[in-house]
Amino acid sequence: MYFTGFRCFECGKLYRPDEDLLLCPACHNLLDATYDYDAIGRDLDRDAIAARPHGVWRWREFMPVLDDAAIVSLGEGDGPMLRCDRIAKAVGVRELWVKSDANNPTGSLKDRSITVSATKAVEFGYKILSCDSTGNKASSVAAYAARAGLDSVVFCPDDTPVPKVTQALYFGARVIRVRGHYSQINAMYRKLIHSGAVKWYDCGTDNPFRYEGKKSYAYEIAQHLGWRAPDRVVHPANGGMSIVKAWKGFGELKRIGWLEGLPKMTGVQAANCAPIAKAVLAGANIVTPVEKGPTIASALAGADPGLLGNRAVASIRESGGTALGVSDAETLEAMQLLASEGLFIEPSGAVAIAGIKRLVAEGKASPDERVVCVVTGSGFKDFDQIASQVRIPEETVGSYEELLAAAQALG
Ligand SMILES: *Cc1c(COP(=O)(O)O)cnc(C)c1O
Ligand SMILES: [Zn+2]
Repeated sequence: MYFTGFRCFECGKLYRPDEDLLLCPACHNLLDATYDYDAIGRDLDRDAIAARPHGVWRWREFMPVLDDAAIVSLGEGDGPMLRCDRIAKAVGVRELWVKSDANNPTGSLKDRSITVSATKAVEFGYKILSCDSTGNKASSVAAYAARAGLDSVVFCPDDTPVPKVTQALYFGARVIRVRGHYSQINAMYRKLIHSGAVKWYDCGTDNPFRYEGKKSYAYEIAQHLGWRAPDRVVHPANGGMSIVKAWKGFGELKRIGWLEGLPKMTGVQAANCAPIAKAVLAGANIVTPVEKGPTIASALAGADPGLLGNRAVASIRESGGTALGVSDAETLEAMQLLASEGLFIEPSGAVAIAGIKRLVAEGKASPDERVVCVVTGSGFKDFDQIASQVRIPEETVGSYEELLAAAQALG
């Protein structure tokens, strides 16, 4: 066992690995899991890990679990890494890779982290998993609860995309629809969890175990590129934890001596809801909440990312990266570019492509870079947005003669 416990990001207090923790009990800040990296480096071989059966749990020594028998998995992680020359040309970089999480069990990146929190719920003996969510986390929590034989309760904005709510309900979750922005719901939900009024296992924004699953991005990208970091990793950012933990993952590999170089971490938000980008561009350490405007990127609705956002700003800055907000028009164009390579991606999941395009155009990223863009959710997750972009033909054919005529009309 290499997981050694937690350290508070803020006050530095240490906690044992067997404690059931959310925020730091001493100062209510975020906790970060710690590991015995010397032992990992001594005992393990990167190529042996690479040869294990696919998924997040290939990296179990880097995960905060005590009991392998508790692992709740649906085969998450190890989505395709696709070199996309057509997109590279369109955005103006030498080499562009898409890392797709659309292939995850419930169709989004959330499965990478919820597999870990569901495992901890089993280890700790909980009966009910819960979260607040813009939709993807809800469907993931519902699926992993089902897989573990547990119940789930999820809190979503009342305008959550229908496919995401449907998925959660179909897996048996109790869905509570809440009026208000995600950030307002997040504040109420966290108040409920910390009040002790319910005995649910929180898979939301305060759970320090869950986030460790997102380090797997770094491991998979590094392995795929021959243990050489790309120049830049571009990721959609809501709370920003994916960026924080991917950066942690790259740092771990570097520390063990398994990785050459480190990437510039780059966060992309919706221009109408971009508090992390605003702080990064202003040189601020603390993220100030913004007034959320309308955007098709409904999963990136975190107007007040709070402590997570501050960590994201720190990771982005430490890596030499940046952050930006993109318009809905840029996001729609990015979705089309992905479609031109056969990739069906929801608006929130596509913003990384729009982000790198703008950075190159503005001279803030070099055309010589090798870039990895993470796409984080399937087009089926926010289907109406895509359906509105096409027209299903009204005409039909009913005989061979009509079919032949229609075929010949295509030229
Ligand atoms: C949740 C989500 C994100 C953002 O992840 P954070 O770690 O909160 O920044 C990105 N894309 C999609 C599709 C999501 O559902
Ligand atoms: Zn603390």
